[in-house]
Amino acid sequence: EKRVYLFHEGNAQMRSLLGGKGANLAEMTRAGLPVPPGFTITTEACNDYYAAGKQLSEQLLDEIRKALAELEAQTGKKLGNPSNPLLVSVRSGAVYSMPGMMDTILNLGLNDETVEGLAQLTGNPRFAYDCYRRFIQMFGDVVLGIDHYRFERIIENVKESRGVKHDPELSAEDWKQVIASFQKLVQEQTGSAFPQDPQEQLRRAVIAVFDSWNNQRAVIYRKLHKIPDDLGTAVNVQMMVFGNMGDDSGTGVAFTRNPSTGEKTLYGEFLINAQGEDVVAGIRTPQPIAQLAEQMPEIYKQFQEISQRLEHHYRDMQDIEFTVERGKLFILQTRAGKRTAHAAVRIAVDMVQEGIIDKKTALLRVDPDQLNQILHRRVDPDAQLEVLAKGLPASPGAASGQVVFDADTAEKWANDGRRVILVRPETTPEDIHGIIAAEGVLTSRGGMTSHAAVVARGMGKPCICGCEELKIDLQRKELHIGNTVIRQGDQLSIDGGTGKVLLGEVPLIDPELSGEFQTLLEWADEVRKLKVRANADNPHDAAKAREFGAEGIGLCRTEHMFMEADRVPIVQEMILAETLDERQAALNKLLPMQREDFVGIFRAMDGLPVTIRLLDPPLHEFLPDIEELLVEITQLRMTPDSDKRELLKKENLLRKVRALHEFNPMLGHRGCRLGIIHPEIYAMQVRAIFEAVSLVKKEGVDVQPEIMIPLVGHVNELYEMRKLVEEVAEQVQQETGVSIPFTIGTMIEVPRAALTADQIAKEADFFSFGTNDLTQTTFGYSRDDAEGKFLHQYVDQKILPDNPFITLDTEGVGKLVSMGVQLGRETKPDLKTGICGEHGGEKRSIQFCHNAGLNYVSCSPFRVPLARLAAAQAAL
Ligand code: ADP
Ligand code: MG
Ligand code: MG
Repeated sequence: EKRVYLFHEGNAQMRSLLGGKGANLAEMTRAGLPVPPGFTITTEACNDYYAAGKQLSEQLLDEIRKALAELEAQTGKKLGNPSNPLLVSVRSGAVYSMPGMMDTILNLGLNDETVEGLAQLTGNPRFAYDCYRRFIQMFGDVVLGIDHYRFERIIENVKESRGVKHDPELSAEDWKQVIASFQKLVQEQTGSAFPQDPQEQLRRAVIAVFDSWNNQRAVIYRKLHKIPDDLGTAVNVQMMVFGNMGDDSGTGVAFTRNPSTGEKTLYGEFLINAQGEDVVAGIRTPQPIAQLAEQMPEIYKQFQEISQRLEHHYRDMQDIEFTVERGKLFILQTRAGKRTAHAAVRIAVDMVQEGIIDKKTALLRVDPDQLNQILHRRVDPDAQLEVLAKGLPASPGAASGQVVFDADTAEKWANDGRRVILVRPETTPEDIHGIIAAEGVLTSRGGMTSHAAVVARGMGKPCICGCEELKIDLQRKELHIGNTVIRQGDQLSIDGGTGKVLLGEVPLIDPELSGEFQTLLEWADEVRKLKVRANADNPHDAAKAREFGAEGIGLCRTEHMFMEADRVPIVQEMILAETLDERQAALNKLLPMQREDFVGIFRAMDGLPVTIRLLDPPLHEFLPDIEELLVEITQLRMTPDSDKRELLKKENLLRKVRALHEFNPMLGHRGCRLGIIHPEIYAMQVRAIFEAVSLVKKEGVDVQPEIMIPLVGHVNELYEMRKLVEEVAEQVQQETGVSIPFTIGTMIEVPRAALTADQIAKEADFFSFGTNDLTQTTFGYSRDDAEGKFLHQYVDQKILPDNPFITLDTEGVGKLVSMGVQLGRETKPDLKTGICGEHGGEKRSIQFCHNAGLNYVSCSPFRVPLARLAAAQAAL
């Protein structure tokens, strides 16, 4: 079986074999674009390598030799030939692009002899030595495992001794000296000389690229983006072209549209007289691509044409790498460009309007997970801001947090629950865990296509790059901006949309939907079958949900209403009451408050259904913490002239708290079990709901209350509660003279309810699957304990494919859901069914809900747009 393909033998369809980079290089070669020739070693070869215990087979080596011979014939150069050396790059290239996560080696084929040949051939010794030192550096780092900074330090020392600041100021002789020191370093670090045989260099580079599939950052990246671990990477071996040959050469990266906003303009950066990774690495801050139009107008024009062609060919925004060698343009890579959610939405909608793609494609182009970004908060435009500095607006959104200067601290602090802003001169792939942990990223060097910018955009994190006013002192962990000194732990804010660095914490405001976003969501509404509701327990959330397109409230929890500061004492009175009269007195005080809550929500949801869940959590959640109480009581006891009545009160309270203590509150006295033992509590809530309905009905507000009984496991529980609700509803309707249509349903959140759904449906007008509790009770995991104790390891060790509290376990919990729907509808064919767990806002779970035939999903207000899109994708 063939394991090596010359570029002209492949095409874009062969992505899984050739990797994204290889497939596109092949496709561009076929299309006649100026791509330096080369060949691709397949992902299968990578898998063979791992299967053979990290060995390259003889057969593969043979195929590589043959492809190399072809490449030599094509280029008229020869690997290792001093009079006309072929130099190649050895580039990683996975099926799904993982920018910067794996390794690439440039200028391979150089050694002590060929470098002299290159110098003579080009008449440019400085260039030749520059290439050679780059090669030793990259090979040393990637293949020999010598720390990058050791090489950098040698260069710094030479620059210092010459009294120069920038690399281009170093002469041929200087680079020669650098090379000598590099070779010494290699000898010291590895115990052998730098490998001189180009064939050996190539073999080892291929192995290193295969190995880089499993380097730590690539593994983390794959986990983050849910890319399978067994795909392997391809390796591209390609003739080098040189952007570092002088001022008529250069290298750059450009997007066919702005990846941050989606605006339709060529967007990118370039560096004159530079090679490869200089742009991405953030070592020098590059110039915007528009300036290429002035400096190399012909090249700019040609590049513009090619980029248009590529965009049309792939029907998607492209991210293109190019190099100019002595006035000639080469294209080195093209791929679908990573973009912010903002840009994704705008590009998808624009491309439909430009006739490049259809609506269906547009809907599939935007990842619902990514939408969270747009739905992020931003800096309040009316806030008083102290702007410290301005950098490049590399990834939009606002973030506030404590400053940290390294990725490890970022991760550590974030694990402790702190919000951090990662501040670095530039980031490298080694910092990825810090970027994941941080709220936002701020760098002093590098451009819009630097590592920090690309990674942050991919994750939807706010990011500012190239903020050159920052003087970062990593040693002292200080940041100097003008006269302001910011130390590790100080508060800082960044606005990635404007590039502003702000002192302290700044007020953030809720997001709004852009015009394009509305359009896309309207297209989504045309195709989706699932309705989308929101979980909201106050008028503000209800209004927000409605603005985002919610078609009702799927879960209005009533316990939050009990937890407001001024109500807690009354709620406690209610709980601590010794007699029914005492309890009723407290409930009577709560009634008008609870009524007001519903009035506000009903007004906001005028015309739409509202599902209200009666009190669910165990009562002790409203009581003080037992340990705090003990401390207070002890203090009172030890103070000689303390208030005896106060002490008695606290002691009483302690007794009650102890009496209510449960070993397993999650499985304890909660949900409808409360309503059955203390019907007066549910009666008060139902009264508040119906009184509120009659009030707003008189204002002309249309309300459709749906009363939901939580945690039913046996039909008799629902039967009792239904009777209670109907009685109170009847009373209120008689008192007010307003007739109110309503329904009564239940949550299906313990397995027994799903198993006996046919019986339960006799008493229910609707089912709402509470998949948070259903997941807890099906797995027998206590959510609060499991996540910290073992669940992460379970997912890491692949014992579970996903955290079932985030992505619905379709095989187990999902089976109960499907069974519940089916059994319920056997009893009541038009039984309304929905889901109100957090899964209702997660795309894969939404796909499941669609397939299971639910009527609606309900999720947090900010996730409503995401759910609308995910529901559409499920239907396509
Ligand atoms: P990554 O996947 O990290 O982007 P690449 O394989 O694309 O890595 O290589 C990084 C950079 O190296 C490219 O952007 C390009 O500028 C440079 N490069 C790669 N191959 C060549 C080549 N054949 N000639 C000149 N430069 C190259
Ligand atoms: Mg690249
Ligand atoms: Mg529940």
